[in-house]
Amino acid sequence: MSGIIDIVTAARELEGSPPAEILRWASLHLGKKLTFATGFGAEGCVIIDLIARNNLPIDVFTLDTGLLFPETYELWRRLEARYGITIRAVRPVHTVEQQTAEYGPALWERDPDRCCELRKVLPLKQALAGFDAWITAIRRDQTAERAYARVIESDRKFDLIKVNPLVTWTHDDVWGHLYAHDVPYNPLHDEGYPSIGCHPCTAAVQPGEDARAGRWRGKSKKECGLHVIQPHKATDAA
Ligand code: SF4
Repeated sequence: MSGIIDIVTAARELEGSPPAEILRWASLHLGKKLTFATGFGAEGCVIIDLIARNNLPIDVFTLDTGLLFPETYELWRRLEARYGITIRAVRPVHTVEQQTAEYGPALWERDPDRCCELRKVLPLKQALAGFDAWITAIRRDQTAERAYARVIESDRKFDLIKVNPLVTWTHDDVWGHLYAHDVPYNPLHDEGYPSIGCHPCTAAVQPGEDARAGRWRGKSKKECGLHVIQPHKATDAA
């Protein structure tokens, strides 16, 4: 991790700044050691738009679990074409078929934590190994765990600096930006899927339900294990 950035001071100074300014700051201070991992959610599409619109030389990748919706794969192609960028694919060691051969069918049904570990967390750890910092698309109002996220913070899980340019944004801020700038987004959002992950673990939600109620529906699991945030101590600095 970079030792030249005072995370606490940076987080305080950037709190409330427009996301584009936060991204510019991160690109300036972290250069090629900064990457953006997108799952192609509405927030991720906003960040891709901001990166491209501001010509920021930021690496972008996605975790291709092999179990994404066809609409998500199509959105991936549309974003690349629209912005003339490459969104790198980071894939698990095992294909879905190989995982089935080794762990049995539909591991996501029997042990979704293990499945996420194999198909998301471990590939992400590998993908982040060469970087000092990563951008995420999390918002504070998405989950109780995410309510503690700062604009810039230390990510102990991955030993990185974490840049969260949209933490202060609301759902309406995100959609206002998408509509205002005609940013491509996943058509499943218009069909009752506010939060979209792998197809076996994503269901539509009913009006009035929590936005993430369709993720791992019927299970206690609420997060992939990528963005669980713990409250930080005041001395948290790098
Ligand atoms: S979201 Fe579901 S299918 Fe995707 S990696 Fe996690 S458990 Fe497996």
